[in-house]
Amino acid sequence: MARVYNFSAGPSMLPEAVLKKAASEMLDYEGSGQSVMEMSHRSKVYDGIIKKAEALLREVMNIPDNYKVLFLQGGASSQFAMVPLNLMTKSGKADYVITGQWAKKAYKEAARYGEAKVIASSEDKTFSYIPKLDPSTFTKDADYFHICMNNTIYGTVYHELPDTGDVPLVADISSCILSKPIDVSKFGVLYAGAQKNMAPAGVTIVIIREDLIGHAQEITPTMFNYQIHADNGSMFNTPPCYTIYIMKLVLEWVKNEIGGLEKMQEINEKKAKLLYDFLDSSKMFKGTVVKEDRSLMNVPFVTGDAELDAKFVKESTEAGFVNLKGHRSVGGMRASIYNAMPYEGVEKLVAFMKKFEEENA
Ligand SMILES: *Cc1c(COP(=O)(O)O)cnc(C)c1O
Repeated sequence: MARVYNFSAGPSMLPEAVLKKAASEMLDYEGSGQSVMEMSHRSKVYDGIIKKAEALLREVMNIPDNYKVLFLQGGASSQFAMVPLNLMTKSGKADYVITGQWAKKAYKEAARYGEAKVIASSEDKTFSYIPKLDPSTFTKDADYFHICMNNTIYGTVYHELPDTGDVPLVADISSCILSKPIDVSKFGVLYAGAQKNMAPAGVTIVIIREDLIGHAQEITPTMFNYQIHADNGSMFNTPPCYTIYIMKLVLEWVKNEIGGLEKMQEINEKKAKLLYDFLDSSKMFKGTVVKEDRSLMNVPFVTGDAELDAKFVKESTEAGFVNLKGHRSVGGMRASIYNAMPYEGVEKLVAFMKKFEEENA
């Protein structure tokens, strides 16, 4: 069996140790005689799994007690509507920063339910930077301020958070959750789809400050109301049971094998540095993002020649480095180097890029 190095932006790689553990427990989870896929979500065994998953997430991310953790479905994309439906309820206003397609989709959805305002955008340069923000332009009485923390398609990240004062900061952290420590207390709401850095697709994590729950707009569908899920321990309906179980295994891996998020950050920085240093020294390949806003997780790069890009994608795939083709809106290549990508995978990719550069100079 040959496993490839998978640079997909999502769904993406999972740690091999997690896949092996899941395989070993596939037919009989801890003596229950069943797979986790088959058991009732109301069973005692499953209750242990979901409670452990939440406890681990709280521990690993250091989530304060006045925040609820919700396990929802519908992807980060459903949060684009859930956030305004639940939060745009006092002044009915919210601020958005447009740093890519996900941020834009979030803004468009919010504009359906209230007065959403674009504070800044980096669309003028294909979202290759994070706009400088001037707090004097922020809406004083906004119900919240929304950012997309790590821009998966464009490879930018906020290294500094906007200062929103008393206005709750809401962030889409789908592609950077668990990549490094994050001060949860600085946010009103954090949300993330699982399939980039946590688990297979299917579960969406919402971390929400308790005082922001319970004010949903009248038209909010029951399933889109944070209060319903908070009151029912994410068991109002059937949760994505198996995905939550895999997330628990991933969290155990982060805690026990990696040693927590500080260690995870060290590894991720080392991996990203290797690739960025090569891009900065290469005559053929170059990164598409301004240096100060570079993401640790998603690294887009180009040769400047579409034919050469295509040749690189083809040859790298044949060599076992898959899903390096860039997003259609940026072109070129993109290496997503999430938590589960080992250092060795980036090392081998860089060696392959060097060889390709020599052969095609
Ligand atoms: C992938 C992604 C999304 C979309 O997630 P879905 O779970 O497919 O809805 C939203 N935001 C960011 C930052 C993403 O990376």
